[in-house]
Amino acid sequence: MSQHLDPDLRTSDPQIASLVDAENARQRDSVRLIASENYVSAAVLEATGTVLTNKYSEGYPGKRYYEGQQVIDQVETLAIERAKALFGVEHANVQPYSGSPANLAVYLAFLAPGDTVMGMALPAGGHLTHGWSVSATGKWFRAVQYGVRKETGRVDMDEVRELAQAERPKLIFCGGTAIPRTIDFPAFAEIAHEVGAVLVADIAHIAGLVAGGAHPTPVGHADVITTTTHKTLRGPRGAMIMSTAEHAKALDKAVFPGLQGGPHNHTTAAIAVALQEASTEDFRRYAHAIVDNARALADGLTARGFNLVSGGTDNHLLLVDLENKSIPGKQAARALDRAGIELNYNTVPFDPRKPFDPSGVRLGTAAVTSRGMDTGDMDRVAGWIDQVIDAEKAGDDAGVEKVAAEVHEFARSFPMPGLPG
Ligand SMILES: *Cc1c(COP(=O)(O)O)cnc(C)c1O
Repeated sequence: MSQHLDPDLRTSDPQIASLVDAENARQRDSVRLIASENYVSAAVLEATGTVLTNKYSEGYPGKRYYEGQQVIDQVETLAIERAKALFGVEHANVQPYSGSPANLAVYLAFLAPGDTVMGMALPAGGHLTHGWSVSATGKWFRAVQYGVRKETGRVDMDEVRELAQAERPKLIFCGGTAIPRTIDFPAFAEIAHEVGAVLVADIAHIAGLVAGGAHPTPVGHADVITTTTHKTLRGPRGAMIMSTAEHAKALDKAVFPGLQGGPHNHTTAAIAVALQEASTEDFRRYAHAIVDNARALADGLTARGFNLVSGGTDNHLLLVDLENKSIPGKQAARALDRAGIELNYNTVPFDPRKPFDPSGVRLGTAAVTSRGMDTGDMDRVAGWIDQVIDAEKAGDDAGVEKVAAEVHEFARSFPMPGLPG
């Protein structure tokens, strides 16, 4: 038998190759409104699929536990320097495997098991890793959680302050996964300062908006900033931890050797590429276009009687409460997926329904903006969403099919980043 590896996926594994083809087509032919997703550039894809995946590099540039780092050290150093320059931070660690391990590393750097952490409750829009009960962060630490006000759908900073003063957390998280409004970093910083807590801004969702100047920056307010690199920032699946110089050593030690082994060097290279892309004038325009599109989608849905949590959006994300439309979130999401409009069902604040079948859906405009869709297109999409939901409620499968045909044709008319042609 030959000892050479067949370099061609189509020959060596036609089953996986055809599944990749199918996913290519699916992504090309649908309107992707999942708020955490995007399309990366061909350059980011290419960097991800390189021989850098073959190399072990435990440690940090200049301080490795394996030989042969002549090239990898330069790759990681470039990624770090680009992150520092783009966000204006003193320190960056680009090794976390993803957003959840990045947050876990922050706990490891600052807390002992049983210590108190404060974060936004998951049903209010927070992330699992901000101390939610089913997460390791809720099981191994004493988590206290803030929410949003029922009348406004927004965080109540007075509630945050009262809770922080009563519970004295060592760590406070701000940011989340379903927050349609601007995060008030200075107000969080003031509260953290008052109670002697470390403030962590988790900007996983909004990192691209921050980088492009379409959302205020947490830099200068938060002690630590964590982010994924694959949402609005439009890089490979990965994460970063950024901080002031003061916390650099503790955070680096927490990531390695505290939590992880070897970094994923192919991902590091792709992060460097994405950071370079995000520092361009083009990307600034992209970030602002995401927000314009979200507002246009919000206006289109509101005009059609949809009820938006907090009444609208300041960023890339919309949370729609479907209670007045008399359709559960999951049924709506499934029907829309059949019509080629992809989003996720989502709990809304004070949801009377269960998390696995909640009242809302979450939408985001990062991916559709990467396809080149504009505000006029968003109004058409809002119209299709309305038609599909009406058809689904009436049991009108043909109605859903009719929209699907229109949506597929529409989606195919926009070039897909990363795909030739
Ligand atoms: C997506 C997200 C994460 C987790 O990222 P994974 O890469 O899925 O582990 C953490 N925090 C927030 C706010 C997120 O939105």
